[in-house]
Amino acid sequence: MSDDQFDHFASVDPTAESAPGSNQADTDQINDEMAARLGRRPWPASNLRPGFEVSFEFFPAATDAGEQNLVDTASRLADFDPAFVSVTYGAGGTTQERTLNSIRRLKGETNLDVAGHLTCVGASAAEVHEVLDVYAEAGVRRVVALRGDPPEGESDGTRPDGYRSATELVQGIRARSDGDSWDISVAAYPEIHPKAVSPSSDLDNLKRKIDAGADRALTQFFFDTDAFLRFLDTARAAGITAPIVPGIMPVTNFEKTAGFSGRCGTSIPAWMSDLFGGVDDVPEVQQMIAATVAAEQCRRIAEHGVQTFHFYTMNRIELTLALCKILGVGAAAQAEPITSGSRSSIA
Ligand SMILES: Cc1cc2nc3c(=O)[nH]c(=O)nc-3n(C[C@H](O)[C@H](O)[C@H](O)COP(=O)(O)OP(=O)(O)OC[C@H]3O[C@@H](n4cnc5c(N)ncnc54)[C@H](O)[C@@H]3O)c2cc1C
Repeated sequence: MSDDQFDHFASVDPTAESAPGSNQADTDQINDEMAARLGRRPWPASNLRPGFEVSFEFFPAATDAGEQNLVDTASRLADFDPAFVSVTYGAGGTTQERTLNSIRRLKGETNLDVAGHLTCVGASAAEVHEVLDVYAEAGVRRVVALRGDPPEGESDGTRPDGYRSATELVQGIRARSDGDSWDISVAAYPEIHPKAVSPSSDLDNLKRKIDAGADRALTQFFFDTDAFLRFLDTARAAGITAPIVPGIMPVTNFEKTAGFSGRCGTSIPAWMSDLFGGVDDVPEVQQMIAATVAAEQCRRIAEHGVQTFHFYTMNRIELTLALCKILGVGAAAQAEPITSGSRSSIA
């Protein structure tokens, strides 16, 4: 989702043979225990297996107080053992310094693996590499590589001395002397990018980004779960083998979400309007519905073998926290803490 619209398990030393969780038997035992816990829950859990891998997306804080809140929120979500947390980057330029500040604080004050989003529209290639240098200096080795949206009224927004697309950006990152050290995610659109010429050209574009060296795709948020599952099948049939991580957004405010979904190419199914209808002024009820909808999305997707999820947190902790608890994400998140486990990662 674009910036203007919103603005780890205990680690185990694999060499320590006596350490709990260091061998397959220990891992199996932990997984069995996790599965048993999930199995005790009063809803169908056959598809909820231990080992969900999650990442959390934040937008940069606008104020010092907001930055502290972001660090506190991210620290709380660290209990769920995310593979990484990411911070969006405003293609328009107004929030870029805030992104860098938020990233520096998250790197400096938490143990989280941090990914910086990076857009190339409106910037020269040299300017883009300066941001990558800042990320590298802060210890960040993950990037979500995006084209970004041109300013309103401009049809293109790219510069002759800049990268014209996310594909070119990925190529540019991989061509750096430290190019192989970057973990690169790119964007994917289960319901098609709003400016795409056709579904097939959009899929070709995603394939180009992966072929250029991206490690995975994170999808735009969606509520039509069937659309995501069809997209996944089509992408696999087109030879895209990299992980395609569904972007799940628990709805904090239905009216606002419906408003910007159209600009993102995300459809609002009629059943959602029905569910959220009439409770605009009762945020608590909206939140209960939102957690149920998002958990059901994850449960259905997991039925198809997907174990990794990217959560659009909207910088709010409650819904994402509830969702992770419902799904049984992360050993530390369980009511009866598991004392050892394996570190999760989105490979
Ligand atoms: C997970 C995620 C995170 C995001 N984070 C941010 C953020 O932090 N900041 C921000 O500003 N925005 C963000 N966005 C929004 C994103 O910047 C916009 O959707 C933008 O319009 C497209 O960026 P892209 O990287 O997908 O572009 P690209 O992959 O370069 O392409 C975008 C569109 O152009 C088409 N296209 C590209 N090349 C060609 C070609 N040669 N021929 C025909 N069509 C082509 C594609 O099919 C697609 O329709 C994010 C989106 C997602 C899904």
